[in-house]
Amino acid sequence: MRKINIAIDGFSSCGKSSTAKIIAKQLGYAYIDTGAMYRAITLYFTEHYINSTDPIAVSHALEKIELKFVPNLQTNQSEIFLNGLNVETEIRKMYIAERVSEVAAIVDVRRNLVAQQQRMGKKKGIVMDGRDIGTMVFPDAELKIFMTADVQVRAERRQKELFEKNELVELHKVIENLKHRDNIDTNRSEGPLRKAQEALEIDTTFITFDEQVDIIMGMALSKIYLD
Ligand code: C5P
Repeated sequence: MRKINIAIDGFSSCGKSSTAKIIAKQLGYAYIDTGAMYRAITLYFTEHYINSTDPIAVSHALEKIELKFVPNLQTNQSEIFLNGLNVETEIRKMYIAERVSEVAAIVDVRRNLVAQQQRMGKKKGIVMDGRDIGTMVFPDAELKIFMTADVQVRAERRQKELFEKNELVELHKVIENLKHRDNIDTNRSEGPLRKAQEALEIDTTFITFDEQVDIIMGMALSKIYLD
């Protein structure tokens, strides 16, 4: 059976990662959460007081960072390790969300992570979600999806996720953060958030999670078997 790469891009909290995880599981593919990589770098920069406007400090910091995805055998999900330490829980917190888009706009950071992501997808059989996967990381991905949803709906979903992780954040603060990140992600010079021309756009505002999974699974199977 031929293996393909699936790129899932879109705005923050459209349900990209939960969808991508299920698709990867059903196809027996690896799932790569590129947002986790940008978040882990942001955590490192925060903990080491790296001045993100100082290119030399950024470049030295990047040399010292090693990122790895390790499967958690209990949950069957892969978790991100920063220099040998599991940071999966820490990187989901609000203080990281507040800074991550500034860090992700740094050209050196993007080039470093895009190169790592391209290496991960060399052998195909990857479902990768992010902002620039269909445009920069895998411009030749066999299937490209671009997810959108109303900001209010996205914020409610995100607030619930934070609450489930014991962080209570007011809805207006979550909305502000999503808009702030979308704005920086869309307007940066390197790898901005864009729909790839051939990407299928899915608005998840009014469809259920199962429906969005079914649409993407159907597209993936037709690419694998019929193309
Ligand atoms: O996907 P998630 O919301 O966890 O991503 C966190 C942030 O990482 C985004 O708001 C964006 O600034 C950055 N990001 C990016 N490019 C990617 C994935 C994430 O710039 N491919």
